[in-house]
Amino acid sequence: MFFIDPKTDVNANVPNLGLAYAATHHKVKVVDQHVLPYPADRFLGIKAETVGVSIKSFTAAEAERIKRVYSKKYPGSKVVSLTGFLDVQCCYPYVAWDGGIEHAEPFSDNYPFPEYELFDSFRYLRANWETGFWAYPVMTSQGCPYSCLFCASRNRKWMARSAQNCADELKNAKEKYGIKSFDVIDDAFNIDRKRVIEFCELIRPLGLRWACTNGIRADRFDEDTARAMKAAGCYHVGFGVESSDPGILEAIKKGETIGQIEDAVVSAKRHIPMVSGFFVIGLPGSTYEKDLASLEWAKKLGIRAHFSYFVPEMPAKNTGKTFYGPDSGPGSEPYSRERQVKIYKMSKELRKKFYSGENILPKIAVFTVRGLPKYGLNGILTHTVHLFKRGWTYLTKGELP
Ligand code: SF4
Repeated sequence: MFFIDPKTDVNANVPNLGLAYAATHHKVKVVDQHVLPYPADRFLGIKAETVGVSIKSFTAAEAERIKRVYSKKYPGSKVVSLTGFLDVQCCYPYVAWDGGIEHAEPFSDNYPFPEYELFDSFRYLRANWETGFWAYPVMTSQGCPYSCLFCASRNRKWMARSAQNCADELKNAKEKYGIKSFDVIDDAFNIDRKRVIEFCELIRPLGLRWACTNGIRADRFDEDTARAMKAAGCYHVGFGVESSDPGILEAIKKGETIGQIEDAVVSAKRHIPMVSGFFVIGLPGSTYEKDLASLEWAKKLGIRAHFSYFVPEMPAKNTGKTFYGPDSGPGSEPYSRERQVKIYKMSKELRKKFYSGENILPKIAVFTVRGLPKYGLNGILTHTVHLFKRGWTYLTKGELP
């Protein structure tokens, strides 16, 4: 048996953590076409009785294709879905086919530390962790008890590992993989403020840089938390803002006021060098003027602003497992193409300001020179294609994918 992570351009620098737990549990090798897409379809070179495919909402079509081509080449083999350990990663739900391999163990300290040596992308992953180009992903908790209506992570039981267990994983990753930094990729990292402070105290001696890139709750963040995070090496924190309009925050069941969010941003900015806000354009009840006001709010507070677009979920009758479908439609007042372009350009300008301020392109060049000798042939091929794609998008659209 072996496992596959299908190729995709989404979060290419973040390995599939649910799959890493499953592979570690079964001690099974992974063909990781996600982090290392080249050579393409190399899984066809391995014959196995059973192949487990870890599918997310955005790789569902690619997973079907994998099943088709693999079954054609090896008609006696079974290609099944692989789920469990995590149900959602970075807001993207895992998807199951009927009769796949499932794991029911609830998220806890009982999970193994992921053994990335089982991934065939390991050499490339480790080189990028060692140079500090990529951050090691860690999930300290899973689930979110809040009900923000646009979010795939909502209304799920919050299950947390102990601060000590998370710190042990990071110490292990530093010793074993030479990591220089990590990203907390929880759905809602700071539900328990005491656990956050304890986590900060425990990881401080490791001397790692880290970020909370998925957005944390503003109403559970305060000056003490900001201080503790900064002292423990946190250089970047993000908040789910969604909109600056009080009526929209209420309509989407955010459970926070814009005043609370603003206070959290101000506290974070006092201590943590980089502060981001995540916004959603086109939320129910939104209008062109309200979306514009959110952009102005981000500008006024001087935060890195990331904008997504609200895409209503498919209704439950269509499984509810993906974001898109024939029954989806606009949830806000539709506005003209010219106005959509204006919003897009404004959000792009906000991002661009930070890209140039951080010298991202020279940094990528330095990391590449450091990492190249360690990548191996497949890693060099993948890295070259990534660089070309990113460079091309930057030159033609003025932003990084
Ligand atoms: S608080 Fe964050 S993770 Fe939780 S439902 Fe809202 S947006 Fe999703």
